[in-house]
Amino acid sequence: MSTLEKSKYELSTSCECRYCDPCGMGTESLTCDECQGETTPTDWCDGGCWEYKRDWLEEDIERFLSHHNNPSSVTIAGKHIGWQRLHGFKEVNADHKSIFAALTFSGDWRLAIECDGENFIITRYSHDEPTGATFWLIPTTEEEEED
Ligand SMILES: [Zn+2]
Ligand SMILES: [Zn+2]
Repeated sequence: MSTLEKSKYELSTSCECRYCDPCGMGTESLTCDECQGETTPTDWCDGGCWEYKRDWLEEDIERFLSHHNNPSSVTIAGKHIGWQRLHGFKEVNADHKSIFAALTFSGDWRLAIECDGENFIITRYSHDEPTGATFWLIPTTEEEEED
């Protein structure tokens, strides 16, 4: 199995949806795939244009967790967080929803994700983090099993 294949992509709250009026086609490119005409940005997107990238993120988080023997929690370490450029740690449940929630907030942000299974690094850009805040996941090692 090639579990250490590296993936790299960006996830952003800004919409990439465009629309071709004559064809009635939705797209993410500047020109229509059908008529080659110019497309216009839509103003009615529900975020569906980046939903598939959330699936990639979900798969990568699962890949990372299974590579590390499925810990029950992970520590998210971060540096240069917010306008004060703070450093910090946060322990969350080891599932993609908790991890995604810990990395995002309501408002505009862009996440640059790098995962090779072994390592998981996220750089977040936002209004207060123009140069990017860096986060990485550390699997929590269980010291002793509770019986
Ligand atoms: Zn969209
Ligand atoms: Zn068209």
